[in-house]
Amino acid sequence: MSQNGADRRPSTTVLPAIRRDGQLRVWCPYCQREHIHGAVGPQVGDGDGHRRGHCSNPESPFIERGYAIQEVVGRALWLMAT
Ligand SMILES: [Zn+2]
Repeated sequence: MSQNGADRRPSTTVLPAIRRDGQLRVWCPYCQREHIHGAVGPQVGDGDGHRRGHCSNPESPFIERGYAIQEVVGRALWLMAT
């Protein structure tokens, strides 16, 4: 446990990622905008895994804990955990 009680374990949140122009794009519910990550390789899923948050919202837990991304193909619905 950290001294201030903040949960700094890696987040188990998985955000769906769309590949476009050789990069993976995820919709961040905290920043209300896309974050872009490298696709790593040419195959679907090559870039899957835990990433650091690129958040501009200082309230976002992803800054400390990051999130996992999972590449999806076709149309995706952005679902927020409540
Ligand atoms: Zn963000």
